[in-house]
Amino acid sequence: MYISIPFCPSRCSYCSFVSQSIEKAQKLIEPYFELLCKEIEYTAEIAKECKLQLESVYIGGGTPTTLNAEQLEKLINTVNENFDMTTCREFTVEAGRPDTIDKEKLTAILKGGADRISINPQTLNDKVLEVIGRKHNSEQTLKAYQLAREVGFRHINMDLIAGLPTDTVESFRDTLDKICELSPESVTVHTLAMKRSSRLTQEGNSLDTDKEVPAAKMLRYCEEKLICEGYHPYYLYRQTRMEGNLENVGWSKDGYDGVYNVFVMDETHTILGCGAGAVSKLKKPNSEELSRIFNYKYPYEYINGFEEMLRRKEQVKEFYDELAEYLSEICV
Ligand code: SF4
Repeated sequence: MYISIPFCPSRCSYCSFVSQSIEKAQKLIEPYFELLCKEIEYTAEIAKECKLQLESVYIGGGTPTTLNAEQLEKLINTVNENFDMTTCREFTVEAGRPDTIDKEKLTAILKGGADRISINPQTLNDKVLEVIGRKHNSEQTLKAYQLAREVGFRHINMDLIAGLPTDTVESFRDTLDKICELSPESVTVHTLAMKRSSRLTQEGNSLDTDKEVPAAKMLRYCEEKLICEGYHPYYLYRQTRMEGNLENVGWSKDGYDGVYNVFVMDETHTILGCGAGAVSKLKKPNSEELSRIFNYKYPYEYINGFEEMLRRKEQVKEFYDELAEYLSEICV
């Protein structure tokens, strides 16, 4: 299951997601949150009827930790109380922006049973952080990481981006070296993608597809360094409009592959999506086929069109009814 919290403290210059800055969307958070909990309850009823087993939960966005500790606790409890969690192998909460993390929130997340969090520096170069519009510095990232360890998290992922504007190969190497000293269980290295709707592209920056862009050297360094530090690559994907036509790679220590990430890449599982911008993907066994159900994209659409969106979720039942009928026919 994927749950979307489409709010962030500020908007990164490369962002193309539906996420809204809390400055602009503060008023929407509470009504959105209440409806989201209802959607999770409704989705659980459907999952039960269709006899689906929950294998992983991913609360992403946006930045889920823009919610307060009480909301985070309620959100996680809504999942725990409505789904059978005995089959769940991994529960991730993105805590992407270090400036949204505090002890109360981390404790609420861990106590609720979410065992994997992602703290995303993107870079530890403060000047680059400023250029890309993230309202935190590298020291906040390091403190947030220590705090997460103190609270007791045993699987911390950290995301980096190669090819950020004004970043250099030397500064990227320095970032990665410092991350390796922290020794998170997994590191995800993205390459900058110049999405059309991002502020970066709209301000006239163009995509560099030259194979020898600095990002290529950064990724080569990741390969050398992370392998030496005991990580292995466990998933890889490309998006459109990536610098140097490079890729995103998930690295992890043994036993710490992100299960949800693998399911998404392999398209082997049904994913039920809740929240604005979420997409449910229904997987037919032994087939390449995936049927998709789209939720409304923006929080205000989600709030205004909530009933219609729940009606769309009926398609999950129809899909599994048809599948059951088909299986009973071929099994005769
Ligand atoms: S943290 Fe992620 S979702 Fe939020 S603005 Fe930055 S790129 Fe977009």
